[in-house]
Amino acid sequence: MTQHDLIVIGAGIGGLTVAALMQERGLSTITFEQHTVPGGSASLFRKKGYTFDAGASMFYGFGTNEQSGSLNLHTRVFQRLGILVPTIHDPVQIHYHLPDGFEVATHYEREKFLAELIARFPSEADGIRKFYDELEKVFDIISTFPAGSLEDPRHLAWLAFKYPKKVAMLSYYTFKSMGEVARSFIKNEELLRFIDIECESWALQDANATPFVNAGICLADRHRGGIHYPIGSSGAIAKALVDGIRKFGGTVRFGQTVEEIIVKNGRAIGIRLANGDTHYAKAIVSNATIWDTFGYLVKDERYRIDESKFEVSPSWFQLHLGVDAAVFPEGFHVHHIIVEDWRTYRNLGGTIRLSAPSLLDRTCAPDDRHTLHIFTTSTVDEWKKRYPKDAEYEAAKARAAEALIRRTEKILPNLSSAIERCYAATPLTHKRYLKRYKGSYGPLLKSGQIVLQKPQNSTPIKNLYAVGDSCFPGQGVIAVTYSGVSCVHLLCRKFGLPVEYL
Ligand SMILES: Cc1cc2nc3c(=O)[nH]c(=O)nc-3n(C[C@H](O)[C@H](O)[C@H](O)COP(=O)(O)OP(=O)(O)OC[C@H]3O[C@@H](n4cnc5c(N)ncnc54)[C@H](O)[C@@H]3O)c2cc1C
Repeated sequence: MTQHDLIVIGAGIGGLTVAALMQERGLSTITFEQHTVPGGSASLFRKKGYTFDAGASMFYGFGTNEQSGSLNLHTRVFQRLGILVPTIHDPVQIHYHLPDGFEVATHYEREKFLAELIARFPSEADGIRKFYDELEKVFDIISTFPAGSLEDPRHLAWLAFKYPKKVAMLSYYTFKSMGEVARSFIKNEELLRFIDIECESWALQDANATPFVNAGICLADRHRGGIHYPIGSSGAIAKALVDGIRKFGGTVRFGQTVEEIIVKNGRAIGIRLANGDTHYAKAIVSNATIWDTFGYLVKDERYRIDESKFEVSPSWFQLHLGVDAAVFPEGFHVHHIIVEDWRTYRNLGGTIRLSAPSLLDRTCAPDDRHTLHIFTTSTVDEWKKRYPKDAEYEAAKARAAEALIRRTEKILPNLSSAIERCYAATPLTHKRYLKRYKGSYGPLLKSGQIVLQKPQNSTPIKNLYAVGDSCFPGQGVIAVTYSGVSCVHLLCRKFGLPVEYL
């Protein structure tokens, strides 16, 4: 029997953030990761001289305090750990290729972006400015608040005392959706569709289902702290967090699957690994999805979370390509979204996303080559129908890959003949490597639910905490970092440590 202060299940960015910051605060932590590398949906894999991002490639949170206030959480976490993560600034968040020749790039320079949008919709110039100014207001409020737990009454009382007007304004925005606010300033239907795809790009939901507050952070911070790419790929963030844990004496074990969270009398007391070993701790943090945590790891069926409580987002069909550098036209941006038809963009496979991070970071691909990650929504059920993996399964995968490449040729002509390596991953691959329920992008709010209805860090089981994109505020590497920081806040209260804002 081994006793620790804290056990963390899963070395995703949420889990690693908790382990690193609690270890730095003097607790003994042990993190168990079933995969051989850290980072989960923000990890890397290497093949034949290429370094691919398994998922995330676009990163917020590396700005300075002056640019993004308290929202530059990566900068603050790594400063606290005393670890340097060099990054490269990405001048454009996303280049959108939309129906009817509508193209716009969300430049770091806000005026440049607004000018491109206004050039397409001159009669909406006033509404466009007012709408994007509204997002800035939310950003200005939230970026003044230190990151902390909304479950801590002392934190909330302190915020209300110190910033009464800002707290009141934020409460007002909390009940608004992005679509509702957009419609109060904008009338043009095509422009409203653009606002939809701005939400869909990271929230996987249209504007009506996207909380205005979350949008305010993403769509304003791209012009403040900006987008950065860590040198050495997305995996550099996870690696730096593991280095931080080890620097302060913590343990991270790879290739170790947690099979059960041991619960006694309503309290989590330990975990059981697939190899039968048991470990005990005063607190346990699960970085698995809420469905994996309460549908599998906790064996008591009374804690199950019904699927209908949130929307189960789809998974992904992904292509990781090594391509000839000549395929990219001069000035090609790193991140792109292609919508061919507004009527089908929210259907499975309807929108294409692509990133070519080696355009920024030359360490990720051999000379004269680049990495290209193309992905689109899909589901485990779609691919399970074809199970077991036989010749037909492989043929279906090849057909899906070919179709996606053909559609991408709209912006990268001759892509198919520029491919040197092609690795295709179905939702089943995603599920297997990341151990995520249905390979899902995580729980999404249903239309009408507000962001505060997302699960927070505490759970119905005493001493069991949740972290990651199932929790408030939601999906995205910076969002799960926030969920880690807020979980640390609660754990400090539990262990009687003073709360130290980053
Ligand atoms: C294709 C794709 C593209 C994306 N692009 C972006 C982007 O550009 N920018 C952005 O900010 N976000 C992006 N995201 C979202 C972002 O990557 C995720 O929201 C975030 O990384 C999730 O972090 P997490 O902490 O919830 O943990 P996860 O990434 O889900 O990691 C959880 C970890 O726990 C481990 N685990 C689970 N169960 C067990 C168990 N029982 N025992 C041991 N280990 C276990 C898993 O192996 C995994 O490593 C993207 C996601 C995907 C899939």
